[in-house]
Amino acid sequence: MATFVCTRCGKCCMSLGRHIRIERSVSPVRHYCRNALSGEITLVTIHPEKRALFSERYEDGWCPFLRRDPGGLFICTIYENRPAICRDFRCRTMIITSREGTEVGHVTGKASLSTGDPVLEALWNDLKFRVPGTGPAWFGEVRKELMIHGYDIDLLT
Ligand code: SF4
Repeated sequence: MATFVCTRCGKCCMSLGRHIRIERSVSPVRHYCRNALSGEITLVTIHPEKRALFSERYEDGWCPFLRRDPGGLFICTIYENRPAICRDFRCRTMIITSREGTEVGHVTGKASLSTGDPVLEALWNDLKFRVPGTGPAWFGEVRKELMIHGYDIDLLT
């Protein structure tokens, strides 16, 4: 059985992990896990080989299931039963949420939006035309415009 070992920086899980919470613990190794963006709750089990690592403290702001092993590698201790948002992650760079904090779309790369919300899609296409570029100034401008229309955007990287 494969166990997730991130040989890069672990930033994806740190940023995505801000939205992962432990809702309730059934035992030291079984937990109900909430994706704060969608409200989805998943029952997860800590991998048997990762239980000692899981019992160690994790850094503030990290996913509660992310640990760093003694060799410095980032490890998802529930990789086999991780929540759907993690399975679907695939290089997401930004998440767009509604005013209520529910995910309504995500961006991959610099500006490729995936959403089922036609209003957001039209707004995003308009913003790509009106606010070209990248970087913090671009992000600030895009966020301001999205917030005017009842959305928010969160950087994942
Ligand atoms: S559950 Fe695992 S894959 Fe998902 S954010 Fe946490 S450490 Fe990363």
